[in-house]
Amino acid sequence: MMNHHQTTANYQSLFIGIDTQVPLLDGSLQRYINLDNAASTPPLKAVQSAIDSFLPFYSSVHRGMGFKSQLSTYAYEVARDAVMEFVHANPNDHVCIFGKNTTEAINKLAHRFPFSQKRNVVLLSSMEHHSNDLPWRKVAKTIHVALTPEGRLNEADFDVQLERYADQIALVAITGASNVTGFINPIHKLAEKVHAVGAHILADCAQLAPHREVHMLPLENPLHLDYVAISAHKMYAPFGTGALVARRDVLSEGVPDHPGGGTVEIVTLEDVVWADPPARDEAGSPHTVGAVALMAAIQQLESIGMNRIAQHEAELTAYALERLTKISGIRIYGDNLPNNASERLGVIPFEVLGISHFKVSAILSYEFGIGVRSGCFCAHPYILHLLNLSSEEAQSVRRQIISGDKSDMPGLTRASFGLYNSFDEIDALAYALERVTAGKYAGKYHQVKTSGEFFPDGWNPAFEDYLPF
Ligand code: PMP
Repeated sequence: MMNHHQTTANYQSLFIGIDTQVPLLDGSLQRYINLDNAASTPPLKAVQSAIDSFLPFYSSVHRGMGFKSQLSTYAYEVARDAVMEFVHANPNDHVCIFGKNTTEAINKLAHRFPFSQKRNVVLLSSMEHHSNDLPWRKVAKTIHVALTPEGRLNEADFDVQLERYADQIALVAITGASNVTGFINPIHKLAEKVHAVGAHILADCAQLAPHREVHMLPLENPLHLDYVAISAHKMYAPFGTGALVARRDVLSEGVPDHPGGGTVEIVTLEDVVWADPPARDEAGSPHTVGAVALMAAIQQLESIGMNRIAQHEAELTAYALERLTKISGIRIYGDNLPNNASERLGVIPFEVLGISHFKVSAILSYEFGIGVRSGCFCAHPYILHLLNLSSEEAQSVRRQIISGDKSDMPGLTRASFGLYNSFDEIDALAYALERVTAGKYAGKYHQVKTSGEFFPDGWNPAFEDYLPF
């Protein structure tokens, strides 16, 4: 793999914290390698500088008459436009509602969605993140579409369920890409089928949006997306913002899930006239700084180009799969073929045979300075499916967890890439995993029963020394 290092270095220079040194168990310092981008990503320098230039002007937004208020309102609304353009939404059809993250966006839609007596079913996949599953279980009857053994959406079962419940389905809620396997769902192909039965479609784009272009398309196009949810902290702008881009006609009706200041035209003691969207669904003072951060990240991603990002990440993913599949003692889940890397995201779930996923991620952290994640990644049903656990085994795990013991919790370890990751970092991961599979690690680890996590004996970092507060 040659020629890659230059592009990688260019992207690294766009980020904050890429050179941060962290302590290892043996007392040495090591440059931190973050391979947990499917969870959260480091900030872009462009985000920091946008916030720095905005903060001196920061003030209340909407209705404030001072210059700073007007400027802050302008910044907030320009950020809203940037999100709309980023997902190729059409302002006549769609409206952007800012919120905290994807979870909040989906919960908002769940509470605002106009279910009827007749149409009250939500069709989901069995690979959803809990944030695109549990909100729907609360408000509707949910049907879960089956998966293939390797963990892709079973499109034949999708068709069967869609036909079976055709006139009861109100919404299909499906992830654009999986946070566990990186599989990308054919959302536009599904959208066409969903619209043909008179239902709407939500694409959870928490994972997809940082890595691929999202096209909501105009409503008259049957391939359009009715709703999209995104999180800024997965897009290199970790300042507590997310967005729901939703059908304007739907959000123009009904009572806001969070009524309050800013959501009304007029209130009397007897009556309320709700404001038009987006105001109806943004109660209280908004998170203007977060919106500015997200806008700056979007501008940076767009200036690099989503296609270049996708291509670069596919090269990283292919290289990682090449390296990891050569290590005996490692089993990769989902798709392990390097040649398919451009069809999926750079999220690689794996198992080190014979060692708990909790322990693998602990060793990578304490002895190699590599940050990965382990467990079920907020997708318990999906993990049980990938691991092929029988329902008896799943029940037994459930009982153990309810009794307060997570030591045998099923799960995997996950390495996930962002656009700044480098081939050297993948080499470092491969080297570390070669050591782990060969039993060549130094620490003595103990497991905490209630969380399942492993900690090495003698690990006692002085966190207070790293921060000025
Ligand atoms: N959906 C998917 C596919 C995700 O990966 C995540 C985050 N891991 C979420 C939803 C929830 O996102 P957030 O934590 O930002 O609300």
